[in-house]
Amino acid sequence: MSPMFVPGPVDVAPEIMAAQSRPMLPHRAKEFEAIFHRAADKSRALFGTQSRVLLNAASGSGLHEAAVRNFVHKKMLVCANGAFAKRWHDVAVSNGKDADLLDIDWQAPLLPEQVAEAVKGKGYEAVAFVHNETSTGLMNPAAAIAAAIREASPDSLILVDAVSSLAGAEMQMDAWDIDFVLTSSQKCLALPPGLSLAAINDRAMEKAKTVENRGWYFDFVRLETHRLKDTTPATPAIGLIYALDLQMDRILAEGLENRYARHRAMADCTAGWAVAHGFGLYAPEGYRSHTVTTLMNTPGIDMPALKAFLLQRDTRIAGGYGKIKDTTFRIGHMGELTLADVQTLLAAFEEFMGKK
Ligand SMILES: *Cc1c(COP(=O)(O)O)cnc(C)c1O
Repeated sequence: MSPMFVPGPVDVAPEIMAAQSRPMLPHRAKEFEAIFHRAADKSRALFGTQSRVLLNAASGSGLHEAAVRNFVHKKMLVCANGAFAKRWHDVAVSNGKDADLLDIDWQAPLLPEQVAEAVKGKGYEAVAFVHNETSTGLMNPAAAIAAAIREASPDSLILVDAVSSLAGAEMQMDAWDIDFVLTSSQKCLALPPGLSLAAINDRAMEKAKTVENRGWYFDFVRLETHRLKDTTPATPAIGLIYALDLQMDRILAEGLENRYARHRAMADCTAGWAVAHGFGLYAPEGYRSHTVTTLMNTPGIDMPALKAFLLQRDTRIAGGYGKIKDTTFRIGHMGELTLADVQTLLAAFEEFMGKK
């Protein structure tokens, strides 16, 4: 099968698929507890944290909801320059939180000084942003933004969605002083969908204990109590935990630096090709995602025809997302993909464009 160039769910390696289909174990069995423990433990390297990582059966959006319910009594800010941050704001509002929205141009990065200005003196309990906007192919400067928030509003928790960057681009949660980072399994981790990972530091955990009505399924305090016994309150996604355990070994064997460099090389290749062939890039230089590229359809390519052409070769790209659905399209380059895969895709594009 040819690879897919979509920003999730991505192709999963055959050995990971096989790991997922190993015989089930009861989740209270010692053998399973050992697997659960080591899978979570190894995944901390991706977050750059010594703190805990909670594994729960849900997609990443479940953790958008968990974050607002666990960390915020009332007042928070979501900083948005794309569709996924907007969603996080919607989630906060629909959970009854008093959530402000810093709503900026989708083609601009969130800048530290701008975020500092927005939080200063506001008493936000938490400030949330998205590291890598999958809609726009823009990677926000997470370290600098977090530093600016900490300085301007020291008591605010800093919450980061790293769904489409974690395991594809660097995250140093502890060094960057971020309190909470969430991700899901089906993007750069290259696992099947259905598992969410939440890294939570002690500051955030202490705050959660003071918040009422955290709910039940996503109550981080309850999940932590069970995690300390290498288990979960409800039935975990056993097959996905097997898969994570093996995938972490594969990721650590590749080496995080090598993995990040591979993603960056695919991004650079895609961007260079796009510019050379007359496509605009939606995200500005210096802030382009390493895991997904959003191209403007400047040459006016017949997208349905291109997609059909690619499907004949058993491969796929992604359309635009949110308000830029019709004017852009996306090439995902994450997970198991290599530079050679990207070059094959771009050669197919050229063939299609030559035919036109
Ligand atoms: C895909 C994505 C989400 C949603 O994650 P699900 O696992 O589909 O719920 C949230 N944020 C970003 C940045 C994403 O790319």
